[in-house]
Amino acid sequence: GIISASMKHDYLIRVLGANEKVRGFAVDTKGIVEHARLIHHNTPLASAILGRLMSAGLMMGQMLKSKEDKLTVQLLGDGPFKHAIITSNLAGTVRGYVSNPGVELPLRKDGHLDVSRAIGNGSLTVIRDMGLKDPYVSSIDLTSGEIAEDLTYYFAQSEQTPSSVGLGVLVDVDQTILASGGFLLQLMPNTDQKTIDQLEKNIKNFVGVTPYLSQGHSLEEMMDVLFEGFDHEVTDTMDVSWKCNCSFERGKEVLATLKREEIVNMIEEGKPVEVNCDFCQSHYRYDIEDLKEVLSHIDEQAK
Ligand code: ZN
Repeated sequence: GIISASMKHDYLIRVLGANEKVRGFAVDTKGIVEHARLIHHNTPLASAILGRLMSAGLMMGQMLKSKEDKLTVQLLGDGPFKHAIITSNLAGTVRGYVSNPGVELPLRKDGHLDVSRAIGNGSLTVIRDMGLKDPYVSSIDLTSGEIAEDLTYYFAQSEQTPSSVGLGVLVDVDQTILASGGFLLQLMPNTDQKTIDQLEKNIKNFVGVTPYLSQGHSLEEMMDVLFEGFDHEVTDTMDVSWKCNCSFERGKEVLATLKREEIVNMIEEGKPVEVNCDFCQSHYRYDIEDLKEVLSHIDEQAK
């Protein structure tokens, strides 16, 4: 019914199956992508790009080891979107933006949003910040620009893990999000050929993430289809949500990374300064007293 459909929340499941030779993640991000659309005024294309990246990021965030670790996935292209970035974590929160959320392009001949043309040629970079001095950074050149295929390639190249990634965002004519989500399947080492063949068959026969979810199916049902012919069980279920960790204090820390003379100039101009968060469009205002505090912090650090 309408009520139960609107009550459905975003969530993520983790599945282990095929004699523990295959692990899977699936995520429903409809609410998160709609929230991002409202904040950033995303066109359907921007929703498609950001939604796919955020779904992927939430699943990849589950591969982090510690609660403090941070995952960043960045897309850089020479197409009209230029740049998209998301951050996620083990707790299942995500945020992100595209640098050019107003871009529209004609639909592809098959009626789909032309994501690969919107991104163009470029690279996909994964950054895992585990609180060490240097974060782990790995980058690949885009081969398809459809994001899911590029991530499949990323896992093969950078992590030597055979994977299959499916991502989708379905946008209504009024630009609201009808469905959004994804799956990620990974083979454990030494998986036998029979298992691989069956899994490939299942993936090939699968109708696709958004056609399936928009019919009202659950993630559990999606995994039943992808694990057809295998034993499998859901080992974890969690809520996922949009969350930005910016704050007035963090904005001050950003100001403190500027050159001393820049802060001095701001104080001399006597005008309050605004710091904007690209992720959530929050604006933080710093008056002269705040700037003086930043300046004394910079001087303190220089001692
Ligand atoms: Zn923010």
